[in-house]
Amino acid sequence: MSNETTLREAIVVTMRAMDARGLNRGTSGNVSVRWNDGMLITPSGVVPAALTPDQIVYVAPDGSTPSGSSRPSSEWQMHQGILAGRSDAQAVVHCHSRHATTLACAGKEIPPLHYMVAVAGGSSVPLAPYATFGSNTLAQGVIATLAGRRACLMANHGQIAIGPTLGMALAIADEVEEQAAVYCGALAMGGPILLDEAEMKNILAAFARYGQRKDD
Ligand SMILES: [Zn+2]
Repeated sequence: MSNETTLREAIVVTMRAMDARGLNRGTSGNVSVRWNDGMLITPSGVVPAALTPDQIVYVAPDGSTPSGSSRPSSEWQMHQGILAGRSDAQAVVHCHSRHATTLACAGKEIPPLHYMVAVAGGSSVPLAPYATFGSNTLAQGVIATLAGRRACLMANHGQIAIGPTLGMALAIADEVEEQAAVYCGALAMGGPILLDEAEMKNILAAFARYGQRKDD
């Protein structure tokens, strides 16, 4: 069973893993996990190498933080809104991985060019509308775009993934970046040949069956 200390440590490990995998640079990117009625989230402006478990911030449902704690990530409203609205999500991973961000800056979602696109929960990885970082407008746009999905791109910004564990949210963000890179490559060669909706339905059904077996 997870306790607060292990979750704080897992957030630090996840931030460092994003850095090591090239999914993030500098102080960008943030990670949260559901805890009690609120969440634990990365602090604002700390590079992963310098991040320690005690710097992770508890944010209560009313948005308050314990006195003396670090300032939470500027995107805390986005994390809080997702965790509040999605009982299937225990963890949220947000990053500015290069290819996902490239597509997001070009106003493109990821179409069904490969069966692994389905790890994001649908036949595409949709694109949330642009709004200023840290704003409630951005949070609401991302929450709406994530409906029924496990990841989306964020216009002119980056990408975000959710999961039942931190490890799964990170794995989905990693796969979204891979599919974004493949799509960028395919676009450079005249554009991908897409899988059709019927095949994506088969794939999504197969992923659902696989998930059930894994949970058994
Ligand atoms: Zn960001």
